[in-house]
Amino acid sequence: MTDRVVLATHNAHKVAEFQAIVSRVRPDLEVVAYDGPEPVEDGTTFRANALIKARVAAAHTGLPALADDSGISVDVLGGAPGVFSAYWAGHAKDDAANLALLLDQLSDLTRPEDRGAHYTSVIALVTPAGEERTVEGIWPGTLATVPRGSGGFGYDPVFVPEGGTRSVAELTADEKNAVSHRARAFEALAPILSGL
Ligand code: IMP
Repeated sequence: MTDRVVLATHNAHKVAEFQAIVSRVRPDLEVVAYDGPEPVEDGTTFRANALIKARVAAAHTGLPALADDSGISVDVLGGAPGVFSAYWAGHAKDDAANLALLLDQLSDLTRPEDRGAHYTSVIALVTPAGEERTVEGIWPGTLATVPRGSGGFGYDPVFVPEGGTRSVAELTADEKNAVSHRARAFEALAPILSGL
């Protein structure tokens, strides 16, 4: 049974979330941060981009590789920012600028029912032998008009998950990790990890 997987991401926030979630599923599984060549993420879907990253990490390390691709999709914007979430306001990849632009674009829409959105996480697992699996987690909610809270990252200060009133940035890390889009994708990945 494999005792190491490589995680293809350089996002420090994501590494922390991933490690917390992986340990719950397979406490014996060591997650090694990937430190090699970065592919161009030129897929047009979360799934395509997750596979691109996992394939490169598996090929470079010889270990089973996990990669996630994620983002926020706003109903009224036809699913945008989607795969462009990380650089919606430009390739500087500035979280605060991305969030400010999205709020500005929606500023005329004040009814919560017009501000529906969801986070998506696709996790890809690619083995050195070339086996490829993907799983998806969706976290529905609405976008608040004003940022609130200091936890999380990215769009968390304006994303209010369905069934709640707090923004994700007002949740504790444990609360977020229990129900987030990545947690939901991980639930689907758990049986695959168990057999790895
Ligand atoms: P990726 O690194 O290509 O997967 O891009 C993910 C981008 O989507 C991030 O830079 C954020 O803008 C957004 N995003 C994904 N997951 C989250 C989350 O849990 N909270 C806030 N923003 C997120």
